[in-house]
Amino acid sequence: MQALRGTKDILPTEIQYWQHIYDIAHQILSNASYYEIRTPIFESTELFKRGIGNFTDIVNKEMYTFEDQGKRSITLRPEGTASIARSFISNKLYIDSPINRLWYLGPMFRYERPQKGRQRQFHQLGIECIGSHSSTADVEVIRLAIQIIKRLKISEYKLEINSIGNIEERKIYEDNLVNYLKIYEKELDEHSQKRLYNNPLRILDSKNNKTQQILSEAPKLMSYLSSNSINHFDQICEHLKYLNIPYTINENLVRGLDYYNYTAFEIKTKKLGSQDTICGGGRYDHLIRQLGGPDTPSVGWAIGIERLLLIIENNLYLPTTKPSIYLITQGTIAKKQIWDIIQILEKHKITFELDLNENNFKKQMKQANQSHAQICCILAEYEVEHNCITIKWLQTGKQESIKIEALEQYFEQIQKSITS
Ligand code: ATP
Ligand code: MG
Repeated sequence: MQALRGTKDILPTEIQYWQHIYDIAHQILSNASYYEIRTPIFESTELFKRGIGNFTDIVNKEMYTFEDQGKRSITLRPEGTASIARSFISNKLYIDSPINRLWYLGPMFRYERPQKGRQRQFHQLGIECIGSHSSTADVEVIRLAIQIIKRLKISEYKLEINSIGNIEERKIYEDNLVNYLKIYEKELDEHSQKRLYNNPLRILDSKNNKTQQILSEAPKLMSYLSSNSINHFDQICEHLKYLNIPYTINENLVRGLDYYNYTAFEIKTKKLGSQDTICGGGRYDHLIRQLGGPDTPSVGWAIGIERLLLIIENNLYLPTTKPSIYLITQGTIAKKQIWDIIQILEKHKITFELDLNENNFKKQMKQANQSHAQICCILAEYEVEHNCITIKWLQTGKQESIKIEALEQYFEQIQKSITS
């Protein structure tokens, strides 16, 4: 049996990188008063349709949707923000605090063509700053993404940012864009031709050369923005300059989800080929109201963990952990008494591995050496009879016999040398 296409097992040899990312995110985010939230992996399909938008790629063709036994339409979450907005509303998180800073890390599901950096089950680390109109909130979230990326020792990254204005501005712009593009309709790539009628803004980030050539003369979104939108954007840019965070303005950056307004941004790296975006985010001031909650402006981002890992695994060395002590037993009494030894080891947080092979002594010793432990503890008939334990230092071969009642003191003494 194989894992399904587009899914991957995360093996014990890789898990330390995941734990490392989790730890760093936890440190940086909780330090800035972001609190972790875990929402269900599946939600009602309606949530994503209403939240993300019917004409987006995600809702249109990438969702894992099925009917459950109760004939409800269920979808495996394709992203985190809609679920968090739903949770914010259903748990009335707005009652206790005007600002909710949340973060999450978990699996997302999209039916896409699997390739390097693109899976059907993948993981996102994300944050949402819910409840503020201020451009300071936008800067805070962008800065936190950069902090995390830097702490993971990723150096070659590029922040791209744009303002896509408010709904009204965008609507007027969209009409003008469509009027302009209609003249060249036949020359657009096939995908963009379809988008002309259901999601024209997304034509801006088409990778097709001819389409891009036509777009170079098209009306520009920036010139349709009101002074409010422009001020908000300018303030973010000023703060980024103050923070020495390099950025480029990408006027074609519109993001794939309907719920964004004002700020849109992405962080890209040079190292990943065509799947080069590691972080995508923006402001979404209307999503929560649209889902039936109070009017609550918000901003956030999501980082794709698998893409991060493709970069960091090469420049981050995390040693695999080995047990300090390998435990060997011979005989039925020893097999019981070993639990007392284990209790002492646990108390002193000394790592151990208990032999389970039930082999003869020689084979167990061989296993002890293969485990790369520093010490082998032997509890066999002789030790049971003499109420002691044999300690063998595996590197030097030095052997000593320690009385059971002195064992705790012995472990206390050697604790430093074996855990360091
Ligand atoms: P792309 O343009 O690569 O499809 P997207 O705009 O669909 O990305 P977002 O919805 O913004 O992606 O998700 C944020 C991040 O999640 C992406 O920048 C990427 O790192 C990661 N991501 C998205 N889809 C996948 C996937 N199928 N497999 C792995 N990572 C993904
Ligand atoms: Mg996508």
